[in-house]
Amino acid sequence: MKPFTNEETLDPENWEHYRQTAHTMIDDMINYLRDVRQRPVWQPTSASSKELLSEPLGNEPETIDEIYEQFKDNILPFTLGNIHPAFWGWVCGNGSATGMLADMLASGMNPSPSFGDHADIYVEQQVIDWMKQVFKLSPDSSGLLTTGASAANLIALAVARNSHQKKVREKGLKNSDKTLTLYASTETHSCIQKAVELLGIGSEHLRKIDVDENYQIRIDLLVEAIKKDRADGYQPFCVVGNAGTVNTGAIDDLNQLAKIAQEENLWFHVDGAFGITPKILPEFDEILKGSESADSLAFDFHKWFYVNYDVACILIKDKSKHEEAFAVKANYLLKHERGIIAGPGNFHHLGLELTRGFRALKVWMMLKENGLSKYQRMIRQNLKQAQYLCWFINENNDLELVAPVPLNIVCFRFNPGGMEDEELNLLNKEILMQLHEQGIAAPSFTLLNNKYALRVAITNHRSVNEDFKLLIEEVVRIGEQQLMGAKIN
Ligand SMILES: *Cc1c(COP(=O)(O)O)cnc(C)c1O
Repeated sequence: MKPFTNEETLDPENWEHYRQTAHTMIDDMINYLRDVRQRPVWQPTSASSKELLSEPLGNEPETIDEIYEQFKDNILPFTLGNIHPAFWGWVCGNGSATGMLADMLASGMNPSPSFGDHADIYVEQQVIDWMKQVFKLSPDSSGLLTTGASAANLIALAVARNSHQKKVREKGLKNSDKTLTLYASTETHSCIQKAVELLGIGSEHLRKIDVDENYQIRIDLLVEAIKKDRADGYQPFCVVGNAGTVNTGAIDDLNQLAKIAQEENLWFHVDGAFGITPKILPEFDEILKGSESADSLAFDFHKWFYVNYDVACILIKDKSKHEEAFAVKANYLLKHERGIIAGPGNFHHLGLELTRGFRALKVWMMLKENGLSKYQRMIRQNLKQAQYLCWFINENNDLELVAPVPLNIVCFRFNPGGMEDEELNLLNKEILMQLHEQGIAAPSFTLLNNKYALRVAITNHRSVNEDFKLLIEEVVRIGEQQLMGAKIN
């Protein structure tokens, strides 16, 4: 056979021109971050951009310059808005300029930290080791970076399940004579239920324990439920503690949960998606006490560590149990003495995925760039901002806190008096939609005891006091406007 000619690659044909376009992109994105405050928090995606984004895939190539123009006109302006200083919806992080650049560097290298001997694996391991130290977990613990806390929680519960049913990998759950049950408060994040369903445990066997007036798990009811399940022939295997519930930021009594787990021989898992982050502050030592006794701890970097999406972490105290849950022998992945496949890497034995992105780099760079001390100041700033917002709400007769504020989440509503909950719910929902539509601010919402609350979750490193003041003024303005409109009609 003759060697063929005209071979191609996906590399740029003209590197110099490409470099110019690339520099423009970087300049644009740096400006985009610098000027974020001048843009609306959110705006609806335009009709023309929806049209572009539903076109069929073309056959012919387009130039990078053309594609970049389309990105700038049709994608960039219509984003979620979570990088904005007045975005406090759900629990979103902002990301940072350094995180953005790190993603570019990682993507340029484009390795897969799965197995073998290459620097990206050492970076991920170092990040994991740092977090064990920061959260006071044993240095022998194992860990893995994941896409989010949902994936981290799933991995933890898989290890917990397998450590209580030794043959589950071979035989499946059906083999066991006893049904597994686990325990978590009614305020626990929905991803725990998803995990329980995916793991074949069944959501009925996730016993949702009621909370007290502070939205913390009722320990007395937990103990009763475990006892009852044992008497009824179930096999309790795990208790999930919340370090920061998604609705109100409630922190369960983790110390008590750790004790109960130990006494009852249960796996103690902590979902600390965002609420474990304040453990870097000495003043939270007591409040989060018990988390260091967890068998597993899941948390996000992309929430209250402000790292760009998507990256989270699972830490597991017993490394061998972690491996036992996921390791599979494959002839094409066996470790060698030398070469690429020597070395410490075994992340593919600690989770679902084989090929993985180098998401550790942005964490590594941001932790180094800020040091623990800057992170401590930022977390304290957010906590103080939550209290500042509470103060505003308490000062204003037309506003009402709907839940205690133990952390960085403030749930409140516009309530000028004389209205039923049902009416107030509609009114506050309207206020929220208008705040979004007018691009002013982006709190989210939740229902607490059937009260619709505006929910401000402050994991935002760009917010300043003025932003909260404006939020309050605008909530009152829109609320009063609605009431006046209602009277006129
Ligand atoms: C956000 C959140 C999760 C899920 O994390 P993702 O990163 O969105 O997958 C789990 N638990 C709590 C408490 C959360 O706030």
